[in-house]
Amino acid sequence: MDSANLPDAQFPLQNLPLGVFRPAGGSPRGGVAIGDRILDLGAAVEAGLFAGDAEDAARAAAGAELNPLLALGNEAASALRRAVSDILTRGSGAESTARACLANAADCELLLPVRVRSFTDFLCSDEHAKRMSPTGALPRNYASIPIAYHGRATTVRASGTPLRRPNGQYPGPDGSIVYGPEPSQDFELELGFYVGPGNRLGEPIPIGQARDRIFGYCLLNDWSARAIQFWEGQPLGPFLGKSLMTSVSPWIVTAEALAPFALPARRKPPDAASPPHLVDPDDQSSGRLTLELSADWATEAMRLAGSAPQTVTRTDFGTAWWTPAQMLAHHTSNGCELEPGDLFGTGTLSGPERGSWACLAELSEKGKAPIDLGGESRTFLEDGDEIVFRGRAAKEGFVPVGFGECRGRILPALPLA
Ligand code: CA
Repeated sequence: MDSANLPDAQFPLQNLPLGVFRPAGGSPRGGVAIGDRILDLGAAVEAGLFAGDAEDAARAAAGAELNPLLALGNEAASALRRAVSDILTRGSGAESTARACLANAADCELLLPVRVRSFTDFLCSDEHAKRMSPTGALPRNYASIPIAYHGRATTVRASGTPLRRPNGQYPGPDGSIVYGPEPSQDFELELGFYVGPGNRLGEPIPIGQARDRIFGYCLLNDWSARAIQFWEGQPLGPFLGKSLMTSVSPWIVTAEALAPFALPARRKPPDAASPPHLVDPDDQSSGRLTLELSADWATEAMRLAGSAPQTVTRTDFGTAWWTPAQMLAHHTSNGCELEPGDLFGTGTLSGPERGSWACLAELSEKGKAPIDLGGESRTFLEDGDEIVFRGRAAKEGFVPVGFGECRGRILPALPLA
């Protein structure tokens, strides 16, 4: 596949992300992205391209949701990955059979890859936490536990699903309480990850085993309605300001594909050392990832004028204070049960410099500093605005791997009755 070997290819042979797609006129099914094609796993099983553990894994990933594969764990995913890599290598004996199992990605609809039954969103950028804090200070518990809240799983959607601006309650300019269209619609640029095999109620996953329970990663937009969120947030935390919708990129980049891009856990000041139940030598030496992330913004006027979208944020997952394994171990440390396909959001991944601030509440300083979009000015999202996230892992000596995109456009609020 020449398209998999281009220097800027998102899906080279080293990536092989998993997803669920619908070919034109067909039903949803599991597949693997390669270049500008998708390997239909069910068709490949029927064609006899797999055997042994890889065949079991391919069958588990062939349906309309990948949960059965996630439940099998990362060894199964690894067997599938090796087999797909062999099949798709140029000159392999299976080449002509494999070609018959490839769909043109441009002709397919990409769907939510997993049935998500729980969604949890964390707060792992201290830069974001500080700028969102009313006092500018980190919460007192920030350095000792990965802070999180339980999100809404029923409103997780695949990239491309438009966001209807919510109606909700908030204080108006004169301080009176109004119910109406959210005036400060925001995005939050996050990384998502899916739980593989879970745990039983009452049985924590120790930090040393936590990394292997993470199946793979995606881009995640935690759409945030700020006026609603800030009004409702005390004392129980986020509710309707967050449950409007969460968007994810449709391809799951496996933990194995990202292994070359590992970083040591972030070095912390001595007075902020992590507690023992969140410290594991392997996780400390390689539990973080270097991963470039960006957010592009296009307005209706920009699209009409044919202008290119404007990149408003470039950041890196390497800014995270906590590793994914620490988030997962902490989540289960009270015995909380996780299931295959549970979705974790890392929280907004803002870095220190303005260009790396990863939501509009930061970029517009909560509405006080308008953002210049080349002739247009914004503090928050207007109807018709579209936000596109992209992600890429790159490191000297390795073929970069991409995440595809996570796209969403704002639709006008429903009229009030
Ligand atoms: Ca968030």
